[in-house]
Amino acid sequence: MDFCEGFEHFVRTQEPLASYAWLRIGGTAEYFAEPNNTAELAALLKRCREQEKSVRLLGGGSNLLIRDEGISGVVVRLSHPSFSNIEVDGASVHCGGGARLASVVSTTVGLGLAGLESLVGIPGTVGGALRGNAGNNGEDVGRWVSSVDVMTADGEVKKCAGGELRFSYRESNLDEFAILATQLKLETGDAAELTRRMQKQWIVKRAAEPLPEQNIAILFRNPADVSAASLIEQAGLRDASVGAVKLSDRNANFVVAGPGAKATDVQQLMELVRSRVHEVFGIELTTGLTIW
Ligand SMILES: Cc1cc2nc3c(=O)[nH]c(=O)nc-3n(C[C@H](O)[C@H](O)[C@H](O)COP(=O)(O)OP(=O)(O)OC[C@H]3O[C@@H](n4cnc5c(N)ncnc54)[C@H](O)[C@@H]3O)c2cc1C
Repeated sequence: MDFCEGFEHFVRTQEPLASYAWLRIGGTAEYFAEPNNTAELAALLKRCREQEKSVRLLGGGSNLLIRDEGISGVVVRLSHPSFSNIEVDGASVHCGGGARLASVVSTTVGLGLAGLESLVGIPGTVGGALRGNAGNNGEDVGRWVSSVDVMTADGEVKKCAGGELRFSYRESNLDEFAILATQLKLETGDAAELTRRMQKQWIVKRAAEPLPEQNIAILFRNPADVSAASLIEQAGLRDASVGAVKLSDRNANFVVAGPGAKATDVQQLMELVRSRVHEVFGIELTTGLTIW
């Protein structure tokens, strides 16, 4: 059976992926699927299993490096509105894994719910944020999660709650195929005060990062008690570049991809930075960037 048979309304072939990633780099996906609901997603996963196709989930592409040669197999994106609802009931918020984290932050702050305001300015989806426990200034999303609905690679939907969930610095134990939705338990607060706090954080964050219109990604996690950016600078790497990829002059832990940049340039620059920082400080930087 042809892989796309019966799925033609939500699967495309040879889809260029660069425009889905913040770095604007990367080849094509053999199959690119945007299912309309969980039943279609489950059917797609079943077909992947039957035909032994590898399958990956794309969120907002803000923490992703896609190789120049592209992806053989299937890339799934939860772009349909059925995956991005945001419903608020008192201090409980139910949101889809495909919802933009920024929409959840602004909706909850506007309703006077405290907890997510420090996550302002973090790009990407709720699913991506939960998978990598996105955070800022010592706060992270995991702290507010009471349950998560996931879909396994077999297409089974499961709820994970309470003690089953583990969040640590930029990590979670949410490793099933898809994070479909989550329930967040926030605290009540004052909308005007929360908005002020959020705006302040936003200004500080923007000033410390490259311009969002650039093609960018964060390279490394911060080692304990020190920022990766300051280690990179102190290692004398401020002006480091490979091909059309350089470190940002606003924050040395970001790469900026110029016209014609290749994924291999990013990987080589990453390796150069990692080995130089290790040589100078004896510290092994680790990356949180997903590489496909
Ligand atoms: C300008 C800029 C600023 C940033 N600031 C911060 C910051 O302050 N704090 C921070 O923590 N990060 C930050 N990041 C990194 C990035 O935004 C986060 O890691 C974000 O949470 C990634 O989400 P995404 O939807 O874009 O995921 P993607 O990049 O699309 O994917 C990342 C990983 O998550 C998986 N994934 C995505 N969606 C799902 C899902 N629904 N179910 C299961 N797995 C999924 C993917 O398969 C992949 O493995 C920043 C990035 C940029 C470019």
